[in-house]
Amino acid sequence: MAAKIIDGNKIAEGIKAEVKNELAGLIEKYKDKKPVLVAIQAGDNPASRVYIKNQKASCEEVGIIYNLVQLDEKVSEDNLIAEIQKIGKDENVTGIILQMPLPPQINSRKIQMSIPPDKDVEGITSGNLGKLLYADTKLSVAPCTALSVIECIKSTGEKIKGKEAVMVGHSEIVGKPVTLMLLSSLMESATPTVCHIATKDLTSSTKRADILIVAVGKAGFIKGNMIKQGAIVIDVGINRIPMKDEKGNPVINEKTGKPKMKTVGDVAFDEASNVAGYITPVPGGVGAVTTVLLLKNILNLYKAHLGIAGGEYSIL
Ligand code: NAP
Repeated sequence: MAAKIIDGNKIAEGIKAEVKNELAGLIEKYKDKKPVLVAIQAGDNPASRVYIKNQKASCEEVGIIYNLVQLDEKVSEDNLIAEIQKIGKDENVTGIILQMPLPPQINSRKIQMSIPPDKDVEGITSGNLGKLLYADTKLSVAPCTALSVIECIKSTGEKIKGKEAVMVGHSEIVGKPVTLMLLSSLMESATPTVCHIATKDLTSSTKRADILIVAVGKAGFIKGNMIKQGAIVIDVGINRIPMKDEKGNPVINEKTGKPKMKTVGDVAFDEASNVAGYITPVPGGVGAVTTVLLLKNILNLYKAHLGIAGGEYSIL
């Protein structure tokens, strides 16, 4: 039987409507303290230009003011940190986001850690990631992709309690925080296993997963025969691969003469759909929800700055 599709766009619409509605009420009430996101870009990377345009549009759609600070691509680490600290002290700023990639002379990790935790809209500073360790701590912000994974799982309506959850990939922004989130309420938690490059027999782990989450960055890495019948499959991967015709030849773009590309996940979708109970598509799955959770993180920080309770996640 074909798996039910977890519709990321629909989940995202619901979250966005809630955020927009709540922000509208708060902005109306606190007229002289609007939510402001400051994006910092060093240099002018064409890929981040598109990203910035979309980010600005989605912020403005829900009433968040978006200010872009553009720094020279030769900016030093010290000057970049000084700029972040200056913006961090500005009471009118709700949150700060760094546009990646940063120029090669900059240590991205060091710069990310210099964002004040109460302005860390991506939930990636050690202070905010550290809070994930404490299961009884409510979070204002958390890594958006990891939150998105949890939203996608929860959208199925299936009980998480007692399930075998297998996380493939252990990055700081996806695999590790997802695992901690799955442990955030021991009474309701799944039992997570984390697989990585040195995992000896990956299939034996993935095959027993009631919930399988994949964040590896390799197109079609998880095949249908690696999935348990009826599992919830959450595909975080975003990979660009050449399109092929029925004969397996690359499809060429007539205008550019280059192969046409398409976006796929880390899971071989067609095969997996015949085995899984639920599955996220790529595109239109985890990624769609991730984008709006940035807005939710900003809303939570805005509420915290206004001294309003309730701007926190209860993960499970
Ligand atoms: P990453 O930092 O490169 O991490 C990839 C992880 O996969 C690492 O932990 C790596 O383990 C593991 N891995 C690699 N090969 C493996 C193998 N053969 N078996 C088991 N584990 C293996 O990537 P990321 O930032 O987490 O992103 C992963 C994917 O998600 C990418 O496609 C990215 O574009 C996508 N992504 C999507 C969103 C979204 O919103 N949808 C957001 C962020 C990222 P080792 O470290 O041990 O090598």
